Amino acid sequence: MLQERRVYDNRRPVLGVVVPCYDEAEVLARTHTRLTRVLEGLTGFEYELIYVDDGSSDGTWAVINSLAGERCSVRGLRLSRNFGHQAACLAGLRESVGDAVVVIDADLQDPPELIPELAALWRDGWSVVSARRRSRDGETLFKRASAYAFYRLLNSLSDHSLALDTGDFRLVDRELVALLTGVPDKNLYLRGAVSWFGLPETSVTYDRDARQAGESKYTLRKMLALSRRGLLAGSVAPLRLSTYVGTAVLTGGCAAALMQRNARLLARPGAFGAHAIALGVVGEYLHAVFRQVQGRPDYVVQDRLGCADRPATVTS
Ligand code: UDP
Ligand code: MG
Repeated sequence: MLQERRVYDNRRPVLGVVVPCYDEAEVLARTHTRLTRVLEGLTGFEYELIYVDDGSSDGTWAVINSLAGERCSVRGLRLSRNFGHQAACLAGLRESVGDAVVVIDADLQDPPELIPELAALWRDGWSVVSARRRSRDGETLFKRASAYAFYRLLNSLSDHSLALDTGDFRLVDRELVALLTGVPDKNLYLRGAVSWFGLPETSVTYDRDARQAGESKYTLRKMLALSRRGLLAGSVAPLRLSTYVGTAVLTGGCAAALMQRNARLLARPGAFGAHAIALGVVGEYLHAVFRQVQGRPDYVVQDRLGCADRPATVTS
């Protein structure tokens, strides 16, 4: 698909970079050095770098404080507690004034050196430029296998196609940032939502490095929460599945009853299991609706750092 090149006559476009950080004090200075080296060398752009502290307890905020004091293009946002990676990304996207905004992990698993390539494709007219993982260094077999299977399952269940093997390392155009931050969805699954809008999307591939310091902050519990969110947000297929399973079990039970065999006894635990699963699935959707009705904010910003002198604000 041929896109129209973005042209800016009166000013240089602003590239926003959002870095969600949860207990990343150990690596953050290194991340900052690599990011600024890339961003200072990026011709034709202004940049703003936004570190979002997602309720760290390890001195991450102190590091962000010292980094934000260096230059006006660096800002910090501190959430009042750990709201989770998705909320931290959303907070950064809302804060950014970038004409295009990149979300990148703090642990250097996503190479900052890829940013110029993402920015160049945005210039060429793409609204979403995802960074697709060709390989994943230093991650457990469980993580790699579960991610591989999950994205494919999600894609087959979703009513729109999703970029495979991508996390949240991507560039999105201002128009899409506005759409994403404008939806009042309390269960927003960012990496799925970006594709939902159907704007011109492309990807570049990269080899994912190992985390440069510390441990993964995505505990199994957080991974499960994220995949639940993705499944619920992406489709109603799980709800339908429970109907199908229920129907199948009921039909099976009826058949067994008709045959008057002992199979009836076997059908009981089966029916109970299917019932419980179906109830669980309905419960998940109900919980999602409940969260929505509660209408609580996605996160609470406790502190902001940075100069009043921000880069040129968005004009469109
Ligand atoms: N992160 C966050 N809040 C959380 C968990 C993670 O902001 O509750 C950040 C974390 O600091 C990192 C990114 O999200 O910048 C990805 O997390 P991590 O590297 O731990 O996940 P993994 O790469 O192991 O999937
Ligand atoms: Mg990581």
